[in-house]
Amino acid sequence: MILLQPVGTVDRGLIKTLEQGIASIFGAAEVGPATRVPASAYVRERDQFDGEKILYDLSLEGEVTLGITEVDIFVKGLNFVFGLADDRRALISLRRLRQEFYELQEDGPLLELRALKEVVHELGHVFGLAHCPERRCVMYFSNSILDTDFKDWRYCRGCAEILRRSGLMVRL
Ligand SMILES: [Zn+2]
Ligand SMILES: [Zn+2]
Repeated sequence: MILLQPVGTVDRGLIKTLEQGIASIFGAAEVGPATRVPASAYVRERDQFDGEKILYDLSLEGEVTLGITEVDIFVKGLNFVFGLADDRRALISLRRLRQEFYELQEDGPLLELRALKEVVHELGHVFGLAHCPERRCVMYFSNSILDTDFKDWRYCRGCAEILRRSGLMVRL
């Protein structure tokens, strides 16, 4: 079971849509109660949040916990990230998936699709996948939102095969 954990205030409708998407791809998902963004994760000089601090603050109640936040996150060495993961937890930020971030008009369906791609990507890491050189594959590393928009929400054949061999059933 994959536990979705809103971190801070997150749009409920979007969480619901992601829950359904995850359940149909990976089997089972559930939404947990929202938690606060840990204050210690905020880095004033960058006006951003340390993604690892939020990730390691996620509950380990589910087999896998997926945190979803609106705050802008970074990891050491990168200006920002859309998400990050370890072997049981994943975190995505919606901040740079929103058209408004780029001073464009809000687009709900596009935001849902982008969020699904980032979720499937980070869960791929949780389940053992590395980045994939195939630009259409969801495991391709997104340097910018253009990469996210170009790639599919699915794993390529090679990545799907690795998941299958590790015993994970995914429906794409
Ligand atoms: Zn990645
Ligand atoms: Zn791939």
